[in-house]
Amino acid sequence: MSIRKEKIIFFERHLMDFFQKAGRSELPWRKKHISAYEVWVSEIMLQQTQVSRVVGYYERFLERFPTVESLAQATWEEFLPCYQGLGYYARGRNMLRAARMIVDQYDGRFPRDTETLRKIPGVGPYTAAAIMSFAYGGKHLAWDTNLRRVIGRFFFGSRTAMIDEAYLEERFTVARKKMNAALMDFGSALCTARPKCTACPLRLRCIYAREKGRHEAGKAQKRTPKGDWSSAEAVIILHDRHCIYYSSLQTKYAPFVLPATYNTRAGIKAYFEKRYGLSLAVRPPHERRIDRGHPRIFVRAQILLGSPVFRAFPSENIRGRGV
Ligand code: SF4
Repeated sequence: MSIRKEKIIFFERHLMDFFQKAGRSELPWRKKHISAYEVWVSEIMLQQTQVSRVVGYYERFLERFPTVESLAQATWEEFLPCYQGLGYYARGRNMLRAARMIVDQYDGRFPRDTETLRKIPGVGPYTAAAIMSFAYGGKHLAWDTNLRRVIGRFFFGSRTAMIDEAYLEERFTVARKKMNAALMDFGSALCTARPKCTACPLRLRCIYAREKGRHEAGKAQKRTPKGDWSSAEAVIILHDRHCIYYSSLQTKYAPFVLPATYNTRAGIKAYFEKRYGLSLAVRPPHERRIDRGHPRIFVRAQILLGSPVFRAFPSENIRGRGV
């Protein structure tokens, strides 16, 4: 891989220009001095959740748990009200485990090197790089899908291009804190899934724009079959902590099947609350299928509070069974 210096300079100059004019400097985690704890909270919340939804949660969370010590002392029942609604509750449980680990093993201070940071539950290479660059001013690029999309398209013509990260990290000259923030904002404003190339300041030297995206393979859209979904049964994949629960005492896994009267998210929650005293987080249906002439929607639901009386099945054993 070899990229000319002028191309890097062009990229950085226009990116920084964009950032100055349109960067989201008002976001609460974009303040000048931010602690590793604050970066970590924001990054965990931002994983697969829209920025606009996270802002309120982030502020309330830090008001309730201003330090890693205060979070480490919290129980799941105390933690949940500040997190409920963000989804992905395994992340939430990891946050509690991580806070306790940081207090117990690192004296309440986030480690200052990527390798040790990655030993913390829920901290992968991206979050570790974000903590290093935003809190400690490190030279790390936080490679997430946004960064890969922008850099992949501009330099190589496709968001899925193989990128030599170390090579590029060596060549970029802008401070990483700025660069990461600018790439995140650019990737969500202009270089989105359907890029707005005609309005983009990088288009003159962007390979994707020049090739009109020919080298970027599009994903085939999954078609939803036609049917009367209001009368569909709801197939519930009930899970928590790497276990999936039996719908009844059976020798093999079978998901819960609820009649159409309960096939909304609110209906599913009410059903489990009333019948089993369980509080659930219910995802939107991930599949709609006609089974032997009957419409069925498939929904994942996670147990948040309460003790399930069902038998559990380790989740890795049922992968690939179409549930
Ligand atoms: S020209 Fe299009 S593909 Fe290239 S960086 Fe801009 S928005 Fe992305």
